[in-house]
Amino acid sequence: MEKELLLMLPGPVPMPERVRFAMSRQAINHRSPEFGAAYADCVRVLKNTFATKNDLVVISGSGTAGMEAAIANVGRDKDIACIVNGKFGERLYKISQRYGKAHEIKSEWGTPVNLEALKAQLEAGATVVTLIHNETSAGIKNPAEEIGKLCRKHDALFIMDGITSIGGDTVEVDKWGVDIAITGSQKCFAAPAGLAMVSVSSRAWDRMTKNPPFYLDLAAYRKSAGGTPMETPYTPAVPLFLALREACLIIEEEGLPARIARHKKMSGAVQAAAKAWGLNLFPKIDALHNYSSTVTAIEYPAGVKDDEMRAAIKKMGIVIAGGQDHLKGKIFRIGSMGAVSAPEILATLAATQIALKKCGYKLQGDGVQAAGEVLG
Ligand SMILES: *Cc1c(COP(=O)(O)O)cnc(C)c1O
Repeated sequence: MEKELLLMLPGPVPMPERVRFAMSRQAINHRSPEFGAAYADCVRVLKNTFATKNDLVVISGSGTAGMEAAIANVGRDKDIACIVNGKFGERLYKISQRYGKAHEIKSEWGTPVNLEALKAQLEAGATVVTLIHNETSAGIKNPAEEIGKLCRKHDALFIMDGITSIGGDTVEVDKWGVDIAITGSQKCFAAPAGLAMVSVSSRAWDRMTKNPPFYLDLAAYRKSAGGTPMETPYTPAVPLFLALREACLIIEEEGLPARIARHKKMSGAVQAAAKAWGLNLFPKIDALHNYSSTVTAIEYPAGVKDDEMRAAIKKMGIVIAGGQDHLKGKIFRIGSMGAVSAPEILATLAATQIALKKCGYKLQGDGVQAAGEVLG
């Protein structure tokens, strides 16, 4: 029998049994009260998780579909200031280039956002701003609240990718003035991959393009979600909606504050282990930026090869992530999102510690012990 691997990735993540079982039932009609009730459960919990009273719709498509929906509906022909300090910021920039006039507000991956350059772009007339709240590629948490304030000051729309923060970290869509917030199902929600959840403010509705995309037309999603029963404009990925509903009910049962505290504790344990080993955390943080609570990016010490180390960890049944693009071989990333708790974190850190040693690194101290002190 093939053994199941423990995925400690920044998505997809292991799914609770209830979530998996919800996908194994017979097909149901997506134009029925039964489907409408499942969608309504999702939206109720999602609004709470986003901390928003805005409209919220669920699109069949991965997180990137939500990113494209945002840009395509409000960014067409606009001057878009795209904040880039990692891979996903770059993705929003690339999407923006397809629809509008995109301006890159660039810093090195994993380093603070260049707020001065953002201000200059807003003064030069940018009317849309894009931000990755939790930049998964670099393990850095960006200052969404400050950026929201700047957007308000200049009356620009604020698009925020919360794909690896919403459901695992504090996010305040309404308080921060986020006009379009996006998350995805396979990250902090611990649901299957394939759904994008998107909230839209009234300001954003007022500024929608007159030339929207077809499949990703947000107004069509709003119209269908406003009916009785709640629906989607086209046939949704029904099994994924049923699984997302269970994942949402689990969040409701755990309680959002407890869930956020758990994510913080788990990532805190990973950070403590890295420090004890004598390894550097990759992000360069300051008073406005922080280490991610959902994924920890750690620099490889000289001499340790990424493919060798991750192969050794995989042999022990655990999968962690490497770096993307130019960070390949430079960093490794341990996800702590979803349903993750102490046993998975301790096993992952023990396997990493063994692998580091096997790959020739001379450990400064016992990372598992340091993590245990955070978790205990
Ligand atoms: C994973 C991720 C995405 C992309 O989501 P897909 O589901 O792979 O399309 C976008 N933004 C961030 C911050 C992510 O972590």
